[in-house]
Amino acid sequence: MNNLEKQDERNEIFRRDRWMCQNCGRHVMIHGTPQLAHLIANTKANRKKFGNCVIDHPLNRVATCCLYCNGRMNIGNNPVKANELADKIRDELLKE
Ligand SMILES: [Zn+2]
Repeated sequence: MNNLEKQDERNEIFRRDRWMCQNCGRHVMIHGTPQLAHLIANTKANRKKFGNCVIDHPLNRVATCCLYCNGRMNIGNNPVKANELADKIRDELLKE
């Protein structure tokens, strides 16, 4: 994926989330610094466990307004939720 495609994908995720922070509900452009949070954190261990296609998938990334909210979105410490999301993403990948 080149930089332009990465930028498009970012914008696509912000559009999907209506530019609303998925933790506090505030508009990311008006309040704070728009940033994408990983639900299953982007770590070496998680990449090994879940695979790059899960970690990088748009469903694993959500709009947030600041570092605090970004950190609050992490579900990596909840194995049930993390596995549910990983399964959902794998289903999506099979559909493509
Ligand atoms: Zn927020």
